[in-house]
Amino acid sequence: MATTAKKTTADKAKSTASKSTASRNTAKTASKSADGKVKAKSTAADGLRELFVDSLKDIYWAEKALTKALPKMAKNSTSENLITAINDHLSVTEEQVKRLEQVFSLIGEKAAAKKCDAMEGLIKEGESIMEETEAGPVRDAGIIAASQKIEHYEIATYGTLAAFATTLGEDDAVLLLEKTLAEEKEADTLLTEAAYNTINFDANEED
Ligand code: FE
Ligand code: ZN
Ligand code: FE
Ligand code: FE
Repeated sequence: MATTAKKTTADKAKSTASKSTASRNTAKTASKSADGKVKAKSTAADGLRELFVDSLKDIYWAEKALTKALPKMAKNSTSENLITAINDHLSVTEEQVKRLEQVFSLIGEKAAAKKCDAMEGLIKEGESIMEETEAGPVRDAGIIAASQKIEHYEIATYGTLAAFATTLGEDDAVLLLEKTLAEEKEADTLLTEAAYNTINFDANEED
């Protein structure tokens, strides 16, 4: 990274710190600069806490978006294995939304969703695949591919959230986040099995 870029960031931080507005959010210890960037105010732990809360809001949005996207994916699938895997994961996802609300409550924050650009993009990719393929094994293979990208994004996110919660000493939150992390890994495994067992093979045979 160039030193000039570093300098610019530091300058920006300095100027926004001097402006120092009353924080819109309710967090006691951390604040956001005028450009909305998370910064450490007094300690790294304060900054990490705000990053943790923001990341929770992001995945809360993402999980809710998935409760709307998964039924469309199931409807577009033909393999019984795949339809079952998606529908099972839909009920799991609905529980995960509630579990996130528990996490917010445990850490004394109001549950709020903040748009996740990554999940929006991943869902859009899945929609494009469904538009660009005919119903059958090829579309099924595409739906599996899109779903696995989604699961991997969630695995990365919950792994990070559990690590943040551990550092912050939010031990009850860690347990809930790790439970969801295990479910996302399980979903990914089931999708891999669905792909290996039949779907990719059928897709290859089709033409
Ligand atoms: Fe999830
Ligand atoms: Zn996100
Ligand atoms: Fe991403
Ligand atoms: Fe998931």
